[in-house]
Amino acid sequence: MASFGQLDLWRLAGKRSFDRGERYVDRVGELGDIEDGVVATVRGTEPYQVRLTWTAAGLTGDCSCPFGQDGEFCKHCVAVGLAVIAAGRNAAPTAADATPAADPTGPA
Ligand SMILES: [Zn+2]
Repeated sequence: MASFGQLDLWRLAGKRSFDRGERYVDRVGELGDIEDGVVATVRGTEPYQVRLTWTAAGLTGDCSCPFGQDGEFCKHCVAVGLAVIAAGRNAAPTAADATPAADPTGPA
């Protein structure tokens, strides 16, 4: 199932960027829906454009900051990820339109 949690952010970003990202959650702008994820602007030294996508293949982050341009999963990506989790939108982005899945609690 395509969804993610804080642990995925932690693994991708590392402790340092994760800790910094937690302090940027307040700076995340409105979450915009895209296919397989969200886009958002994070107000840092300047506004940075972040795109997070998550599919069965995993979670990917892109950011317009220098670290993001280097291919790092930066603190801005962490902040957007945490904002997505806080908004309860970290399940599969297409889930809302899909037919409800079978009971995930498993066999009785
Ligand atoms: Zn960044």
